[in-house]
Amino acid sequence: MTNLATYLKVQDQPTTADMPTPAIALAIGAHPDDIEFGCGGTLAKWAREDCKIHYLILTDGSKGTWDEHRDAGELADTRRIEAIEAARTISPSAEVHFLGRIDGELESTPKERSEVAYLIRRIKPEVILGHDPFKRYRLHPDHRNAGWITCDSIVAARDPLFFPEHKLPRHRPNALLLWEADEPDHFETTGDYLDSKVTALLQHRSQYESTLGISGEVSDSAMSQLADTVAHQAEAVSLRWNKKEAGEEFKLITDL
Ligand SMILES: [Zn+2]
Repeated sequence: MTNLATYLKVQDQPTTADMPTPAIALAIGAHPDDIEFGCGGTLAKWAREDCKIHYLILTDGSKGTWDEHRDAGELADTRRIEAIEAARTISPSAEVHFLGRIDGELESTPKERSEVAYLIRRIKPEVILGHDPFKRYRLHPDHRNAGWITCDSIVAARDPLFFPEHKLPRHRPNALLLWEADEPDHFETTGDYLDSKVTALLQHRSQYESTLGISGEVSDSAMSQLADTVAHQAEAVSLRWNKKEAGEEFKLITDL
């Protein structure tokens, strides 16, 4: 009984919180708005503390609409612009990289791993953030495959015999943070930086109806509704971890 109680306590509590701000962070998302949803508050906080922020968006977001008459190419162009605007909201000096795969058709193959490992070796992030591929019952294949690409590219980037044609030194990040994690064990306080997360999400105008729950007129009240939703999610996380301030939760992996 005691052993079970101890086990449950360990499972229920984060083991770590608020890691030191990295000098360079790379966030990898399947679609143009995934990074803000997953870790926008954490990135905004780190950016304010002089962390260089890189975004890598793996697909073109060309299926992100409920409008069957929307032109996929035009939507992809629009979402690319929105993604850059959102990233600059999080950090004015953010660099946004695009892998350009077709939305809904993302796969984890040696080609994707090579391209992502190349970027990791080139920009040398201390921390990488991404989707948790181990999350159970995850439906969207792009989110699953983005998680696998992220994990597998870290292995490829750190070991010298992977992709020697890169002609770049290998690089091993210090930490991997997985959002929407199956077993979260790390808490980052986001506090007031949630405002930046909401402002960044609002740059994704093409997603107001399908993802952000803003339908009809784009009004101040609809936008404050989104702010309330984000705030409630963050408060639920902080309540779960018995923290005073709002936050984002992750699975932390340091054995990279
Ligand atoms: Zn997504």
